[in-house]
Amino acid sequence: PLILAIESSCDETGAAVIDGEGTLLADVVASQVDFHARFGGVVPEIASRKHVEAICGVCEECLEQAGARLGQGPLAWADLDAVAVTYAPGLMGALVVGVAFAKGAAWAQGLPFIGVNHLEGHLHANKLGAADLRPPLVASLVSGGNTLLVEVRDWGDYRVLGETIDDAVGEAFDKVAKALGLGYPGGPVISRLAAQGNPDAIAFPRAMLHSGNLDFSLSGLKTAVTSYIGKEREVGRPLNVPDIAASFQQAVIDVQVAKALRALEETGATTFCLGGGVAANPALRAAYQQACDQRGVRLVLPPLSACGDHAGMIALVALERFRQGRFFGLDADAQARCDLERPY
Ligand code: ATP
Ligand code: MG
Ligand code: FE
Repeated sequence: PLILAIESSCDETGAAVIDGEGTLLADVVASQVDFHARFGGVVPEIASRKHVEAICGVCEECLEQAGARLGQGPLAWADLDAVAVTYAPGLMGALVVGVAFAKGAAWAQGLPFIGVNHLEGHLHANKLGAADLRPPLVASLVSGGNTLLVEVRDWGDYRVLGETIDDAVGEAFDKVAKALGLGYPGGPVISRLAAQGNPDAIAFPRAMLHSGNLDFSLSGLKTAVTSYIGKEREVGRPLNVPDIAASFQQAVIDVQVAKALRALEETGATTFCLGGGVAANPALRAAYQQACDQRGVRLVLPPLSACGDHAGMIALVALERFRQGRFFGLDADAQARCDLERPY
């Protein structure tokens, strides 16, 4: 089959076409990040409007690229076998644009319609780094809006082992960057600076390390960093930004890895995956590599270019649903929040 997938849950408008072998024939992303950067974060109303402006062009470009990849002219909508879209979780007004567009296309062409959970997309991005990836496995999904540990019993069969009780990991990176005046998004710039700093310079808290469960808390760490910055400024000491970045990042990594290892122990899984925008963090990837190597656990990581939001990851889930024959009705709607344990 040929499936077109659309992603519009946050500030990236994406469209991808996948074939029956799981090859992405095209994967087009239009990022709005520059429009939001000046406001220090994603502005929902701007995101919705930019999706409306971009979505037609992104889909046309995608159909054209997919056709070229097949050595022909642009694919027509009638060449497709299904239309898929991210229906949750994310910004409601942003999701609605993709969902309405995809439902319209599916209805007009009489094609099956597939709704995809965005977090399941981040998980499936791992297939781009390892085509032979199969459940059972444990995955950590760390992004701008979510922080979860998930047991993957099968594709589509998930058990949430733990999650953040307040901020997401990516959100913490963004807030610390903001406090340091480093702009938005914070993850890439913090991780670049952290590479030049000393991770042991400042003892920031490792929240919930010994909580006895697999949940996380990030807001206390963010407060510890911002109050440290405030105190240093008060006494007039120049900030050592690389040391702050490295010490903050290490506090995050220590808890993430410790809980992931406990999840592996509890489930007996021998494969571990990472997903979400924060999966692009080099120090986090290296820490998992070392921890998994020591325990003989197979670590699969998404390619760096596939960690952020894009429609290719949605297409990978859509192909799985297509094979399973699990489709959505055209009465399905966008949802701002959604339970990963019930993805369809
Ligand atoms: P969600 O996936 O939860 O709906 P989202 O789609 O907005 O949220 P993503 O696009 O998946 O989030 O990830 C963006 C987040 O990843 C941002 O918070 C960003 O700061 C963070 N991030 C990106 N690169 C890095 C990095 N190198 N280190 C740490 N964080 C990073
Ligand atoms: Mg984004
Ligand atoms: Fe995301």
